Amino acid sequence: MAGDDEVNLLVIVVDVNPIWWGKQTLIQSEVTLPKCIDAVLVMGNSHLFMGRNNKLAVIASHVQESRLLFPGKLWKCGDLSAETSILESNATGSKDGKYELLSAANDMIVEDIKDLMTKTGEVKGQQTDTLLAGSLAKALCYINKINKEGKAGQEVKSRILVIKAAEDSALQYMNFMNVIFAAQKQNIIIDACVLDTDSGLLQQACDITGGIYLKIPQVNSLLQYLLWVFLPDPDQRTQLNLPPPVHVDYRAACFCHRNLIEIGYVCSVCLSIFCNFSPICTTCETAFKISLPPVMKAKKKKLKPMF
Ligand SMILES: [Zn+2]
Ligand SMILES: [Zn+2]
Repeated sequence: MAGDDEVNLLVIVVDVNPIWWGKQTLIQSEVTLPKCIDAVLVMGNSHLFMGRNNKLAVIASHVQESRLLFPGKLWKCGDLSAETSILESNATGSKDGKYELLSAANDMIVEDIKDLMTKTGEVKGQQTDTLLAGSLAKALCYINKINKEGKAGQEVKSRILVIKAAEDSALQYMNFMNVIFAAQKQNIIIDACVLDTDSGLLQQACDITGGIYLKIPQVNSLLQYLLWVFLPDPDQRTQLNLPPPVHVDYRAACFCHRNLIEIGYVCSVCLSIFCNFSPICTTCETAFKISLPPVMKAKKKKLKPMF
């Protein structure tokens, strides 16, 4: 049993990319965003139930912003008076005998995600990548905040669970790597539950931080995977027979064409990777003074007077 002073913080990052989820609706896929959010709510509630000191945060990763859905602005973490005022304002609270805290949390998440998704209508279709690196950074900031707020001698164990839908964006490679190493340094585990195509970036994140990477074989049983694989905390995992670790694709994507390459050119300043040599790094604009192999110039023939 966990000690009284131990706080378990779970941050769930949900990919709510409107383009990917819209496509699922079009092809009448078995997984839809409301179903996914339902699964996240059950997962979050279960986590809160597992221990008195457990804390939860939910972040939506959109194509335009990363939003902290829970605890929202009205919620003051750990402050009982604030919680009570929310419970009072929330008339539907215990209608069905459900624990009021969970009702309030669930309503808050559902309302906020509705607000976020309805604003999507105003998006001009330029940006289509999920801002996952930014959302992970936000998760790390939130974890840091909770650590700072904690009482002296209280241990906060934090982990991040990413529910990934849309494809990776090679443009975020550098930000993503920075986030992974920051998490590793703070002993924060990153778990990934992937719904669609494999994510090389998340495979690396899970491998480096010691989390579980799982591309779920059946998306309609998302909740079962969440509860069986991702709910147990890292201490309990050693006693479970979990899916075997995946082969991690450590190839990096070149920044110019987003191809996965094994050998390439690396900028010595910003560590950007390119498949072809370019004298100026397109990421940080450093100019390289590398002596290229001398180009054989055709010698100019002296014009001889014809006469
Ligand atoms: Zn390239
Ligand atoms: Zn560079």
